[in-house]
Order: sequence, then C-alpha cells, then structure tokens
Amino acid sequence: MQALKPESAGASDVKILLDTEDLPKAWYNILPDLPAPFPPYLHPGTKEPVPPQAFEPLFPKELIRQEMSPNRAEPIPEELREAYFRIGRPTPLYRATRLEAFLKTPARIYYKREDLSPVGSHKPNTAFAQAYFASREGVEAYATETGAGQWGSALALAANYFGMKAKVFMVRVSYDQKPYRKYVMQLYGAEVIPSPSDRTNVGKKILAADPDHPGSLGIAISEAIEAAVTGTNTKYSLGSVLNHVLMHQTIIGQEVIRQFELADVTPDYMVGSVGGGSNFAGFAYPMIGERLHGRSETRFVAVEPVSVPSMTQGKYEYDFGDTGEMTPLVKMHTLGHTFVPPRIHAGGLRYHGTAATLSVLLDAGIVEPRAVDQLSTFEAGQIFAKTEGLIPAPETCHAIRGAIDLALEAKARNEETVIAFNYSGHGLLDLEGYRQFMEGSLKNNGNA
Ligand SMILES: *Cc1c(COP(=O)(O)O)cnc(C)c1O
Repeated sequence: MQALKPESAGASDVKILLDTEDLPKAWYNILPDLPAPFPPYLHPGTKEPVPPQAFEPLFPKELIRQEMSPNRAEPIPEELREAYFRIGRPTPLYRATRLEAFLKTPARIYYKREDLSPVGSHKPNTAFAQAYFASREGVEAYATETGAGQWGSALALAANYFGMKAKVFMVRVSYDQKPYRKYVMQLYGAEVIPSPSDRTNVGKKILAADPDHPGSLGIAISEAIEAAVTGTNTKYSLGSVLNHVLMHQTIIGQEVIRQFELADVTPDYMVGSVGGGSNFAGFAYPMIGERLHGRSETRFVAVEPVSVPSMTQGKYEYDFGDTGEMTPLVKMHTLGHTFVPPRIHAGGLRYHGTAATLSVLLDAGIVEPRAVDQLSTFEAGQIFAKTEGLIPAPETCHAIRGAIDLALEAKARNEETVIAFNYSGHGLLDLEGYRQFMEGSLKNNGNA
C-alpha cells in the first residue's frame, strides 16, 4: 500500500459531531409510509392474522403496541434518552478520506460510528429500549439467544442497567470456542447457558439424541422462548427482524440526516450490511421515509453474504422465523426456516430470512440487494484497517465491501458520487477470521 495523500477535506467534514441534545426525541416508524400494506403475521395452523394479545406471554405490552403502531413518530422517554447519552450517543459521522485516496476514487465516502457503544455494535440501541419498557412493566428477567454473543452482550448490558436479570442461551460451539463475549455477558451479571441445554424440554430432547450437539441459533431461539414462557415474570427478547426492534435503531439514521445537513452533503447511496436487517433499517429508514415522500433521491444498497443470500436468492413468501416452528408465519425474503447457513465468520448475518418491512421495500425496488463473498469482505476489512485505522466486525466488512464497490464504479464513470455506510461494529473480538484471512486459509464458504 503506497503512502496516502488525502485531499484536504477540512476538519469539519472529516468528523461530523452532534450535540448531546441533537439525539432524536422520537423513533421513526416506517409502517405508515410503506409502499405496500404490511403483511400480517399469520397463525401457522389457521393461516389467520395473529391478534396482538397472542404475543403477551412472550413480549412486554408496550413493545407489542409498538410492533403494529400506526404512528410515524414514537416518543423516546427521557430516562431512556439519558441511557443513550451514557452509552455514547449521538455517535459521530466520519469521512473516509484516506480510504478515498487509496481507492483513487472521485467518490466521497462517509461512515456512521455504531462501534462506539460499550459492547462495540449498534445492538444496544434496541436492547436499552426493550429493557426500559420491560422493567417499567415489572418484568424481572429477559430470556434470549445469541450466536457469537453480540446480541447477548448488548442485552446483558441493558438488562443490568435497568435492574433486570438476563438469561442468555448461547450456541454451544460459540460458548466453547469464542469465550470472550461470554465473559462480557457474565461481567454484566447475565447467566449464560450453552445451548442445547438441559434447562428446557426442547434442549433435553436434542441432548438425548446427541449429547455432543454443537447447537444452532434456531435451537437457542426455541430454548429462550420456552424459558420465557415457563419462567416466572420472564419475557423473551429478540435483537433484530421485528418491527419495534428496527424502529428503535432509527435514531442512527435520524442523526445521520442531521449530520448530512451540517456537512451540507446529499448522499447518493446509503449502504448497510443485512443479517436480520436492524442496523440497515436503523441507518436507512429515516432517509427512505424522505424518499417515499418524494423529498430524496438517495439509493439504498443492502449487502448480504453470497453464502446466506436471503435477499438476492430467497423467495418472498410466508415462513417461520425459527427452525423449531414456534413463531408465527412472517412474509419475508427467506431461504426456508430449515436452511443451515455455512459457518462464515460474520455470525450476525447467518439468518435464513430478512425483516418483513425490509422485504416489502426490497419487493418494491426501493432497497437494492447485493451479495458479496467472504474473502472479498475480509479484504475490504483489511483495507479499511490500513487506511482509516479501524478494525471492522466481519458483518460490517460487508457494508464496507459494498461501499468500496460503489466507489470503484463511480471511479470508472468518473463521478463524484457520495456514499455513506453504517459502521455497525468493531472486530476486536473477531480476530480469528482475520488470522485465517492473513494466513490464506480462509474459504469463501466459511470455515469459522
Ligand atoms: C448483529 C450484527 C449485524 C447484523 O444484524 P442486523 O440485525 O442485520 O443489523 C451487523 N453488524 C454487527 C456489528 C452486528 O453485531
């Protein structure tokens, strides 16, 4: 890599900061603005829409109300805003001048720093909201699942903050092989249980058939749901996919719109990685709302792994949200709930479906999907580390790959395109993938 001589962008354009009070006072709910009616969740037996009360054994009432809210704006309580201040919000928007110089592109590239939360990702934005509303309803414990631990550590942090217990079912291979986020969760006081476990009937059944079962996210979801339904004063929490979860993330994109105003730039593209869709939605939905009202011409690019291609290869149809068929049917882009994703390092992108609202936007052509392979994402991650100095999470590398590809396309057309992407998290607890990448042993289809 040659020496970098970035064209001077001016200090205010390199790092765009907001005042504490610029933190949004309401979330943006995209439901009333969707270009097609939201397809209701269906009961798998009767195929009838599931009434909201049916979710009460699982979720706090306020979150069920938010899930189907017709209101474009949902207020953020002051006590929760204070929690957001404490975990680092509002977050800065940076311009990647050193990456631009390396690519020799006329494009300008911006990125939103969602890695600056205590657990290193965007996930606390919803974890804090969920724990706040649950604790106000007197719920004492949350049960949830986690793969490599990004979601579990966010919920452990938030539950502890609002005086709740957290019970996290962690996929057993990750529990054994990726212990660091387990320690993070335990430090915050969470109980971390390797899944499959003997704590639930689902887990016991699986262990009886195979005592050494490595576990899967689908099994961990089923165990967490069972623990929530059978536990005293316990609810279930999900870190992505659901409408209220995506809505909680929209503080990201509202901050970004304010930051674009301050820097006087209009983005041509907004890019994000997609697992279930929460960081992409949080980043892009506020601007998508502007476009749906005819006030913006920004294009929106959602990036997924080639090996888990729910957006680019999945069918748009009703499917279960989990492997164990415990959830209602959700209309979404899906690879089928029995799809077994290859073990790529971007653990947060190994979900068989795409959030229902994002699926509506994909179907309407408002969001453009792209798929990238694992090797090219780690290459993008290393380029980013060497130019901008930050080591991205493997999930985030997908957004960076998408942004770099757009910047190279702009270069080929010699266009001053403005590209912004969501820097969803850091990769400092994911160095095993980088080790394999540097050694040359990383495979495109996953050998995590
Ligand atoms: C969990 C995670 C993702 C993927 O989940 P979404 O719900 O699609 O955002 C992306 N990046 C990071 C850093 C994550 O932790």
